Amino acid sequence: MIRKLLRRVFKRGEPYPHPVQIVEAREHGIRPEAVSNAARRTCATLQEAGHKAYVVGGAVRDLIAGIAPKDFDVATDATPDQVRALFRRARVIGRRFQIVHVMFGQETIEVSTFRAAHDADTEKDEHGRVLRDNVWGNMEEDAARRDFTVNALYYDPARGQVFDYHHGVRDLQRKTLRMIGDPRARYREDPVRMLRAVRLAAKLELRMDPTVQAPIREMAELIENVPAARLFDEMLKLLFSGHAVECLKRLRADGLHHGLLPLLDVILEQPLGEKFVLLALADTDRRVREGKCTSPGFLFATLLWHEVLANWETRKQNGELPVPALHAAMDEVLDTQGEKLAITRRIAGDIKDIWLLQPRFEKRGGRAPFRLVEQSRFRAAWDFLRLRAESGEAPQELADWWAQFEQAGNAEREALLKPETAGPKKRRRRRGAKNSAAPSDIPPPAFA
Ligand code: ATP
Ligand code: MG
Repeated sequence: MIRKLLRRVFKRGEPYPHPVQIVEAREHGIRPEAVSNAARRTCATLQEAGHKAYVVGGAVRDLIAGIAPKDFDVATDATPDQVRALFRRARVIGRRFQIVHVMFGQETIEVSTFRAAHDADTEKDEHGRVLRDNVWGNMEEDAARRDFTVNALYYDPARGQVFDYHHGVRDLQRKTLRMIGDPRARYREDPVRMLRAVRLAAKLELRMDPTVQAPIREMAELIENVPAARLFDEMLKLLFSGHAVECLKRLRADGLHHGLLPLLDVILEQPLGEKFVLLALADTDRRVREGKCTSPGFLFATLLWHEVLANWETRKQNGELPVPALHAAMDEVLDTQGEKLAITRRIAGDIKDIWLLQPRFEKRGGRAPFRLVEQSRFRAAWDFLRLRAESGEAPQELADWWAQFEQAGNAEREALLKPETAGPKKRRRRRGAKNSAAPSDIPPPAFA
């Protein structure tokens, strides 16, 4: 009854009124110094010029959850041109979704102008996916168009207050992921939100509200209409979230990897490949959490490796020579998967470098090993070999040999060299090398 009345008062399509809650520091617990200097200065400059300005989105959410934010975004009522005029180093980026990058030293703050929620005039594709989102609005409207309640929090560094329109602070404290508005409608507007739900729940250890989780399985196929480049960005965020293994488990449980991530479909159903991919993802998770560098090229090389192996094997069985067969297998896999995944040319180059060096690890005589360690991609390729060995697809003895060779001085390296023989390699176990396996001990790929 009341809802009906309210709807009549507030024209149809206009955002539902949401009284703001102002949450004080003792409740939200954000320490002002946890906000980067650059974000605080950006807000202060905008506020001094008479604008509203708040730290917004993921950073506020993470600070309340006790996680160090990856970066800081600011939302304001100033237009992009007004923002740019206030800072020495700032530039407007994007055509359809204009935002301003404000730079302070190494740090970049993304400043976006409050946007309006969607209405009947919003441009959509035939599946209901929103195509444009560039109408300015007020702060309340800006909050309403965000995805999850925990992402619609605005922190004012000057006063230390959080502005909360959708009970995001309460949901964070209760560890619940809730959608703003009707989850089905919001997934239709932007199917990427399904992936975001999985990633955020894994990252923040939140329980998805049943209304957030339930529609995912049946709506998953809408993801196929999302432009590949956007999907690629979101996949990268997921894979480098530091919680990739957990995300994958949840994607699988929610039926989101079928069709949506054809690559994972293929790999996760192969016993040998699955172990390898999970090891690679666990390794990436560890590196992200330890703040070490990671590379998309390396991770995608692991994700696609077993497809390359299978393709390469078939070609060799059909009489193609090993090296040209590897080149052809790589190109074929990258052509089919690369397009679906929008793998950029640069990343494809990195992936190929890592793959192409793999057969070269088998040459342990003559000058070849000396040349290989000098390669700029040696480190990445060797890490790749280690994962292969750990998963049982390459001999552990080979990975151990390279560890020794890499560490050794020149004389010792000479002593390590193996005789260059054309025939089958001798079986040889290194003392103390656990799980070592000569090439013949390695099970053939199950799918070859
Ligand atoms: P991360 O910690 O990975 O950066 P994030 O939530 O900050 O997570 P961003 O992609 O940086 O993710 O987005 C910033 C904010 O923009 C979000 O917190 C959310 O409020 C809003 N947002 C991002 N993507 C969407 C979307 N698809 N639909 C609605 N709001 C979105
Ligand atoms: Mg963010």
